[in-house]
Amino acid sequence: MSTNDNDFAALGIAPELAACLSELGYEAPTPIQQQAIPAMIAGYDLLCQAATGTGKTAAFALPILNRRAGADNAVKGALPTALVLTPTRELCMQVAEAVHRYGRPYGVRTLPVFGGQPIGRQVSALKRGVDVVVATPGRAMDLIERRYLKLNDIDTVVLDEADEMLDMGFAEDIDTILTSAPADRQTVMFSATMPKRIIKIAERHLQNPQSIEIPREVVPEGERPTIAQTAYIVARPY
Ligand code: AMP
Repeated sequence: MSTNDNDFAALGIAPELAACLSELGYEAPTPIQQQAIPAMIAGYDLLCQAATGTGKTAAFALPILNRRAGADNAVKGALPTALVLTPTRELCMQVAEAVHRYGRPYGVRTLPVFGGQPIGRQVSALKRGVDVVVATPGRAMDLIERRYLKLNDIDTVVLDEADEMLDMGFAEDIDTILTSAPADRQTVMFSATMPKRIIKIAERHLQNPQSIEIPREVVPEGERPTIAQTAYIVARPY
């Protein structure tokens, strides 16, 4: 088997992206990737219940990047084509780094934008041209209102950890952003839990979505979970 000929290619992922994943040591798609990648490539909106650690970032990032396969990479648009919303700056940076890493074969320009960071640098990057914007909802709204972040060319919106975003009070921002994005875009929601308010957002903003549920790992008695959890107790810095 050549490096390009792995299980990711069988899901519809372009050979150069699949090869990049092999180099990163990804040997096979995780369950969420097996289900979400083909559905996203087929153009469906998705409502996915999946926790962190399941490989959900690659599940939405790869289909977004796959759109660049076969495109002339030298010709880049001025406006972003994908917007990923995350609840925290930490997740924002982590997702942006992952998209950048997976998108290396295409030189995809990825920009993390979050509050607390000087807005000037984010504005300069947006003016130079960005393909994928990963943002916390508050800063995204700010940049949209100031007309630096333009949604005209957005074909995919991802809500990552949607339940966390609602818990942090971003419901109204999310509503406004989704209403401002082009109506014919693809919308993909990930949430660890599916309370009524999440379903309501999905009903309002997703079109005929496919539902995907990845149950939490059940660890048989006497065995250890594959995801190790460690807690560190640290002193306050004063
Ligand atoms: P996530 O749930 O997206 O935060 O991903 C959790 C971790 O799994 C990250 O460190 C990824 O790099 C890693 N990962 C994602 N997909 C795969 C895969 N198919 N094979 C191996 N590792 C993966």
